[in-house]
Amino acid sequence: MTDQSKAISQDKRLVEAIANGTVIDHIAPGQAMNILRLFTFLGRGKKNRMTVGFNLKSGDMQSKDIIKIENVTFSPSETEQLAILAPNATINQISDYKVVDKYKLRLPPEIVGAFSCPNSNCITHQEKDATPRFKIFKKDNGQVMMRCHYCERVFEREIVLKTNGLEP
Ligand SMILES: [Zn+2]
Repeated sequence: MTDQSKAISQDKRLVEAIANGTVIDHIAPGQAMNILRLFTFLGRGKKNRMTVGFNLKSGDMQSKDIIKIENVTFSPSETEQLAILAPNATINQISDYKVVDKYKLRLPPEIVGAFSCPNSNCITHQEKDATPRFKIFKKDNGQVMMRCHYCERVFEREIVLKTNGLEP
């Protein structure tokens, strides 16, 4: 058995292990922890059984994290939030032990209402009607940046996550 087919069969076993729910696969090593924080943040994972694997062998990456969460389907807005934490992860939707949908997370061009602005003088902290929104773009070096719609300040993704309690 080649390393690759070993990794694939391990993959398959991990994906097939839940009856219904979502498997977030190909998470960059270490990012599973942040995703778990996001679940807490979203109020998910309180009642739903979750399994987390850290630093698993992968066919196309050195190692990866994986999260299985039972009986949960993510909404489009939750999927966008996940994409900011794990831009290259794959979502597997499981129904009756079968993968019924599979897609790669993509960074949304804009995210609304998910993260608050790191700028404490930003109007979003005073005005209840000003729902935080950020334009999302990548710099040439791959760094994900987020620009606040209101104060127009540009933040590195990590700063926004930290402000929202999502970074270690
Ligand atoms: Zn702002």
